[in-house]
Amino acid sequence: TIGMIAIDEDGHVAAGTSTNGARHKVPGRVGDSPIAGAGAYADSSAGAAAATGNGDIMMRFLPSYLAVELMRARADPSAACKTAISRIKRHYPEFFGALICANATGHYGAACNKVPGFSQFHYMVSDSKSNIPLLKSVDCF
Ligand code: ASP
Repeated sequence: TIGMIAIDEDGHVAAGTSTNGARHKVPGRVGDSPIAGAGAYADSSAGAAAATGNGDIMMRFLPSYLAVELMRARADPSAACKTAISRIKRHYPEFFGALICANATGHYGAACNKVPGFSQFHYMVSDSKSNIPLLKSVDCF
């Protein structure tokens, strides 16, 4: 999945995903990516989040919605992402997944579940002032 969060100069926030789905998916499978609150969620009064990973597990927990609501309650984006991943991890310790989060003021973060072969998650950040995309990474937990 490619997940994206965009914030314009007036503080409007949007999020979206583009995915080819999961490997060996059954015909007709929708997955988490197009489901609001699961694959992505945005609310200009709080922030936005987008998820990647095992959608069949992640979509049961609406991680993007949860992270946005946590940011609304003043959690910083990294903490919001981490809490949303933790919520899934509690039930599926071995799930594969990551979440990016940004609040309406442009602060951002990410979190991922550490499993064998997946200990860091990389994402890109760009702003209109510098116009130079930065590669960021977060250690999975
Ligand atoms: N979340 C996607 C899905 O389960 C897969 C992905 O993130 O690559 O359809």
